[in-house]
Amino acid sequence: MRKTLYLKFLLGYLIFGCFGFLVVATFVSSMTLEHLKRERADALYKEATLIANTYAADLYDNEISLEIVKPQLDALSTYLSAEIWIINPSGRMIMTTNAPLDVEHETVVENFDPTVTSGSYYAVGHFFDSFSEDMLSVFAPITSNYKVRGYVVLHVAMSSIRSSSESLLNISYIMLVIFFLLSLTILIFFTEMVYIPLRKITVATEQYASGNLHYEFQVDSEDEIGYLAASLSYMASELARGEDNQKKFIANVSHDFRSPLTSVKGYLEAMQDGTIPPELYGKYLDILLNETDRLIKLTNSLLTLNNLNMKGVVLEKTVFDINQIIRSTAASFEGTCRPKHIGIDLVLTGDRMPVLADKTKIEQVLYNLLDNAIKFSHAESSIRIETTEKHGKIFISVKDHGIGIPKDSLKLIFDRFYKTDLSRGKDKKGTGLGLSITKEIIQAHNENINVISTEGVGSEFIFSLPVADEDAE
Ligand code: ADP
Repeated sequence: MRKTLYLKFLLGYLIFGCFGFLVVATFVSSMTLEHLKRERADALYKEATLIANTYAADLYDNEISLEIVKPQLDALSTYLSAEIWIINPSGRMIMTTNAPLDVEHETVVENFDPTVTSGSYYAVGHFFDSFSEDMLSVFAPITSNYKVRGYVVLHVAMSSIRSSSESLLNISYIMLVIFFLLSLTILIFFTEMVYIPLRKITVATEQYASGNLHYEFQVDSEDEIGYLAASLSYMASELARGEDNQKKFIANVSHDFRSPLTSVKGYLEAMQDGTIPPELYGKYLDILLNETDRLIKLTNSLLTLNNLNMKGVVLEKTVFDINQIIRSTAASFEGTCRPKHIGIDLVLTGDRMPVLADKTKIEQVLYNLLDNAIKFSHAESSIRIETTEKHGKIFISVKDHGIGIPKDSLKLIFDRFYKTDLSRGKDKKGTGLGLSITKEIIQAHNENINVISTEGVGSEFIFSLPVADEDAE
């Protein structure tokens, strides 16, 4: 099964070779012989006509004697490598270049019939049993006063024509072998360009199928096969990344669930066995409530993320005033800000700013960003929420003067469960899911969210929304 493609190609190549030889041995061979025969017959016919019109005609008109004609025709016969006959319509031989003149004995060609050529000027055969081998016999009539008085017949052995045809054919065979060997390069080309890369791709696919998604392979061609290999390797790396992410996700979820559960269990056991006296229950129940709050928050965030992923984020878009949402969200954080003496400054464009978006989800985005800004702000600092309208979009920025985000972490903060080391002390309840939810929501609106931050100075999160037509509200 594995080698079928290669075998098929090899078989095709061999069939092509055999077919080539077969064609040369049959069609080409008979075509060459036919061509040479015709060519020779044409040349001989011209000579025969010439002889018929000159020597032979003079001979019949008794203008010249046989003794004079014979040596001349003998010489011509040697030159043409053909036997020359002058023959009467009845078949009586007048002269042949094959034998000396013999007036005593008359030679007659039995059953001589000049119509044997049936319209053509040559015939192939034993010429009325005059020869023991195949001859090419070319006829030219000797005429005078519109009467056929005899024939000039030129004979050439077919074997000589066949041998020239064979030598020509041998050249064809040699050419064919050379061509066949040269075409071997196609086989080498096929092996290098198709077969080996395909083998690599097959091996890689088997490895991926057996679960080894980190298997690496290299196909250095820039054609479709190279593209296929690159796509396959990209697909595997994406699958591997997905698998790694899933493992990381599960590890994070388990870890984030386990720590509050362990502490809840620890405190409850301590209460049960009396390690914590009843008079301290109030304090520890607060801690327990805190831990359960954290668990609820984590579960809710996970559910939200899962919903966003599963439904491909179904948005219920309406036109609403983003300024009003900013104001109300900021107001809801007043209680959190007061103890830290954090002020929230609103710098909003226009009195009203209608946008087309999913109101509840955008509220959540603002909530997450403001919650983070407050969590990571220093006491006595200020947070600024600013809106700017540009090219039909409204850019909403939430800027704090807090701990900031280290440069290396900037790319990672939108990943699930990611928390910077800086933030761990300040935010023990954080799940690291808020920003990934925020990003999913903004992306679902086909908008963008960016962060600019300097460690120790502060952070600014900016996202965009499409401005809506006020009348559409
Ligand atoms: P969480 O829900 O725990 O706050 P987020 O996904 O919202 O998680 O944030 C991820 C991490 O990004 C935070 O733990 C924190 O390290 C960092 N971060 C987010 N916002 C800010 C900010 N305004 N200032 C400094 N760090 C921030």
